[in-house]
Amino acid sequence: MPEHVAFATRNIPLKDSPTLTRRQALHRHQSLWATLPGGSIKTYGSARRSHYDVIIVGAGISGALMANALIGKRLRILLVDRRQPVHGSSLASTAMIQHEIDTPLHALAKLVGTRKAQRIWQRSAGAVEQLGRLVSDLNLKCAFRAKKSLFLAGDEYGARALRMEVDARVQAGLGAEFLDAHTLHRRFSIERSAAIESAVSASANPAQLTAAILRTAKKEGVEIASPVEIKDLMPLDDAVILSTSQGWLLSARAVVFCTGYEFLDSLASKRQQIVSTWALASRPRLKKPGWLNDYLVWEGAEPYLYFRSTSDGRVILGGEDENAEAAYKDEDKRRQKTKILVDKLADLTGISIGRPDFEWSAAFGVTPDGLPMIGRVPDMENVFVAMGFGGNGITFSQIAATLISGEILGHRDPDWDLFPIS
Ligand SMILES: Cc1cc2nc3c(=O)[nH]c(=O)nc-3n(C[C@H](O)[C@H](O)[C@H](O)COP(=O)(O)OP(=O)(O)OC[C@H]3O[C@@H](n4cnc5c(N)ncnc54)[C@H](O)[C@@H]3O)c2cc1C
Repeated sequence: MPEHVAFATRNIPLKDSPTLTRRQALHRHQSLWATLPGGSIKTYGSARRSHYDVIIVGAGISGALMANALIGKRLRILLVDRRQPVHGSSLASTAMIQHEIDTPLHALAKLVGTRKAQRIWQRSAGAVEQLGRLVSDLNLKCAFRAKKSLFLAGDEYGARALRMEVDARVQAGLGAEFLDAHTLHRRFSIERSAAIESAVSASANPAQLTAAILRTAKKEGVEIASPVEIKDLMPLDDAVILSTSQGWLLSARAVVFCTGYEFLDSLASKRQQIVSTWALASRPRLKKPGWLNDYLVWEGAEPYLYFRSTSDGRVILGGEDENAEAAYKDEDKRRQKTKILVDKLADLTGISIGRPDFEWSAAFGVTPDGLPMIGRVPDMENVFVAMGFGGNGITFSQIAATLISGEILGHRDPDWDLFPIS
């Protein structure tokens, strides 16, 4: 849409919607990343024009990857955030970048069919590899490190389920090795009935990763403006009008909502739920087994524990999710959850955290099948959304960036329908 049309739209009455996207404190207490350098980026206080080809709402990892997928295509791109960039959930993430999604492949196949489940898992593995290439091609300084993953049997998925899972993954062309209790104990000194060892994972500093991608996008001409809140939207035939908290009207050929757990209110549904989660980081150079430098560990249990190491020798662990939206704000609960996590890690591995350097809690979005929702907002041809991310948020953000950018650029991805909005 030409710019003068955008200005002429200033008189269009947009409905007064105070909460176009949900609003909530996304995390409580400082995460480790908030204290490390390299996780911030300078922005403009306002948009410099009124019409863009693409406006991306949300400057977390999803918005950053979305911008990255669209650069170099001669598009005028604006990215806005009502917070400082990287101050949403991306700052609280424990950043285990896994192709193993929360629902095991053999279980997902029962829910969505074998072929579709295989595509989802294969796309996840591809997305982790894509992220690795991005970090290396752009030389992003974000403590990114390729790792293996160890998935431990637990009360949700025991040894038998893990054997079925390895078979399902091998059939899908994904590498996975079944470890029986004896092998697991011999190699990792962990007492569980079984585990799956697989490659294609990584970890990173999520704030540095996001900020570094945003910095690259900025150099490539993407405008980043904050604090700018999108208050309302009006889809037209060939464009979308957005109103901002400052009272400006902006227009774009396409708008992408990358607003994380603060999803569009109109898309609130029973399928996605906001729960509470807890995480902590030990002091640096903690005494721990050498293998933990190379592995991400998680378990098929409910509630679950996951952990990994950092480049300065800390251990980061998290889990203990609760199905209550506001529980993460409860201080007593944070102390209890920290103790549970620390004790569980000690029981499992003998690692003694002592008093953690950082303890934080956060809102966390989940869906029953662990899958995100990526697509067009119903009845809005030019409005896209990437939402419903759970424990594999970063991997799904990369998939969303590939799928949605393809749609905007006019070359539909064969997997476009893989993550429907429902
Ligand atoms: C404790 C914790 C641990 C996690 N661990 C992992 C993990 O190990 N591995 C993994 O892959 N994932 C993990 N995740 C999930 C992952 O962190 C998230 O999926 C990811 O950070 C979401 O990124 P995002 O860019 O979509 O959202 P955010 O980072 O929240 O960014 C969205 C932005 O949108 C902005 N916004 C919202 N509404 C508006 C509006 N109307 N106008 C303007 N701006 C708006 C917000 O201000 C926000 O900055 C974890 C999450 C948490 C909380």
